[in-house]
Amino acid sequence: MFESIHFESGGRRTTNASRPDVLDRLRAIVGEENVVVDPERVEPYGADAVKEKFPPEAVIFPATTAEMAAILKLANEVVFPVTARGGGVGYTGGAVPVEGGIVIGTDRMKQIIEINVDDLYITCQPGLTTYEVQQAAAEVGLMFAPDPASYKDSYIGGNIAENAGGMRTPKYGVTKHHVLGLEVVTAQGDIIRTGGRTVKNVVGFDLTGLMCGSEGMLGIITEATLKLLPMPEATSTVRANFTSMEAACKVLTKFTPHGILPMAMEVIDKFCVAAVEENFAFGLSKEAEAILLVAVDGSREEVERQARIIEQIIAENGGFDVIRARSKEEEDKLWDVRRAISPSLMKYGTLKINEDVVVPRSKVPELVARIEQIGKRHNTFVANFGHAGDGNIHVNFVVDRDDPEQIARARECVAETFQLSVELGGTISGEHGIGYVKSQYMHYAVDGPTLEIMQAIKRAFDPKGILNPGKMFV
Ligand SMILES: Cc1cc2nc3c(=O)[nH]c(=O)nc-3n(C[C@H](O)[C@H](O)[C@H](O)COP(=O)(O)OP(=O)(O)OC[C@H]3O[C@@H](n4cnc5c(N)ncnc54)[C@H](O)[C@@H]3O)c2cc1C
Repeated sequence: MFESIHFESGGRRTTNASRPDVLDRLRAIVGEENVVVDPERVEPYGADAVKEKFPPEAVIFPATTAEMAAILKLANEVVFPVTARGGGVGYTGGAVPVEGGIVIGTDRMKQIIEINVDDLYITCQPGLTTYEVQQAAAEVGLMFAPDPASYKDSYIGGNIAENAGGMRTPKYGVTKHHVLGLEVVTAQGDIIRTGGRTVKNVVGFDLTGLMCGSEGMLGIITEATLKLLPMPEATSTVRANFTSMEAACKVLTKFTPHGILPMAMEVIDKFCVAAVEENFAFGLSKEAEAILLVAVDGSREEVERQARIIEQIIAENGGFDVIRARSKEEEDKLWDVRRAISPSLMKYGTLKINEDVVVPRSKVPELVARIEQIGKRHNTFVANFGHAGDGNIHVNFVVDRDDPEQIARARECVAETFQLSVELGGTISGEHGIGYVKSQYMHYAVDGPTLEIMQAIKRAFDPKGILNPGKMFV
């Protein structure tokens, strides 16, 4: 959309945002020190976890909603792209300004406005990390349930905009299930409020739900009211080895008849186990073709009862070397294995194409078996792990970044994996979103009329297309 006004300048796209008069007006809004134009300093804001670089023309750091509104009014008047950024650890290039313009960093928006213990909510600005919100809640004996593995780096604004998931989703759901209300600055610079402070709220369209997962394309979140829950008294984690991923995944549905809903169920395949072992020497079994981790929470007695049943069910269904953590430290160690996987996989190559397909959980055994076949058919290395309890598997095709043939084969694997997920009743992304990385595959999962409605919503919120252009619909 900005094709007509941008031109290449030293590899960076330049729009009206670079005009000296525009930069002066931005400085007048947020202060000289909060407008960064030095190429070296803006460069890190041109990439996220995807690591491809599209440096912005400037990075602006507002501290208040009023400053955010003034910036967007200016962008809408002069017309230049605006890309909101949280922690910058997204996996689909969402925070990357592919069409140039400014990046709005939310790093200064870290205020906790209210924590209400009686009404079970926290209201805060978007620049707090997920961990900081979890800690603030824990300090008053409450829990903020969403917990993406990136929780120490990702921001609440980024979590909401990506509708992040995490480990605890089988029981607690994803971020949108914990957002009660939002304050949002629109593309025109208006300040709107969605939802409120109550769990129940059916007045008008659910704009809060619409903003969750909107990837910075409909407005910029400046304040969020998030649901808190009582902190469970206890947690327990069971780990077991299996002779195949399929066998491990078949256990996922076996707990329901016993009235047990684990808060987390994660699977890890043998390639992930080997990579983690090489890097961290956790002492994992070389016999294991797959590992299953199952965690429960609740009252001490209930957790003990459920953990015993889980151990038994796992053993009856082919699990071996079944271990249960006996202390918080032991439990943390079991989960350290899971958190160590992603970086460890770089042992297999220099480019990791990390997808996060999702299917109904009963289809996970078939999904992982058929993804292994896809990898073999295209002679491409693939390692699988992830949130099997909610059907969301992280599929990693690892190749040599300097070998175009390997990359082309991996791309075929990606396309077939996406088709397979849709065929099994799932979709192409469970939690990482679309960004620019997956936009070409949107039509695999969303039919034409539905896509048109989504584009109409985008136009209604952002008629000039200034918010995060080049994403989702290309
Ligand atoms: C090691 C690792 C582990 C991960 N584990 C998980 C996981 O378990 N579960 C999961 O879901 N994801 C996971 N992710 C992906 C990622 O961390 C999440 O998508 C996270 O929500 C991104 O947050 P962020 O603050 O970094 O957002 P960014 O990457 O900065 O931005 C993401 C999107 O949000 C938009 N945005 C940011 N702030 C705002 C705002 N205030 N208003 C409007 N739009 C905004 C941006 O424009 C962009 O489109 C992981 C990533 C890594 C690197």
